[in-house]
Amino acid sequence: MSRTASTAMQAGLQSCGTCALLSRPAHGAERGLCPRCGDELTFRKPYSLQRTWAYLVAAAICYVPANLLPVLTTTTPEGTESDTILQGVALLWSPTGWPLSLIVLCASIVIPSVKILAMGYILVSVGRGSVANTVQRIRLYRTVELIGRWSMVDVFVDTFTAALVQLQPLMSVSPAPGLFFFAAVVVLTMLAVDAFDPRLIWDADSANEPQYA
Ligand SMILES: [Zn+2]
Repeated sequence: MSRTASTAMQAGLQSCGTCALLSRPAHGAERGLCPRCGDELTFRKPYSLQRTWAYLVAAAICYVPANLLPVLTTTTPEGTESDTILQGVALLWSPTGWPLSLIVLCASIVIPSVKILAMGYILVSVGRGSVANTVQRIRLYRTVELIGRWSMVDVFVDTFTAALVQLQPLMSVSPAPGLFFFAAVVVLTMLAVDAFDPRLIWDADSANEPQYA
């Protein structure tokens, strides 16, 4: 990114987070509202770094029980069996079932951990005021934002399985506590991505930046 590029903040303008219209900030302590869509105007999302960190740490904490606790409980005449995500991946692995097994592995274990690590890296680099790899970091952020919705795949797979396999009294499947932690990881990482203001990535790169945020 060019170091000579100027930002709206440098020009003293606020861009609307919803419709991207540029406006002059309201005078004094007045709360600025977008003249087009009525959304509140700020130079940067307030407390973006702190809020993103809070959601991300909460997601990382929930990630542990999401993987250690069972996500599905299967009841058959032989007894009740609870499986964690990893046990489910192993259980699904068969000559015909391996694609589903891979989908669950990627959606439940690989993607959430990559998202948490990627957001952690972006937060640490922004916190340190790093000016390196701004383009790569913004691409990383957009990728994390894009894949966010696919994290729900696992919850879908589990709830579908639970809904399909209800052959009571022969066999039934129900969600176990791990699934709630897993859903919490998905929601918290989505909130973390939403709380982060990507413009912070290039703020450190803009010379003579007036500090409004
Ligand atoms: Zn607007």
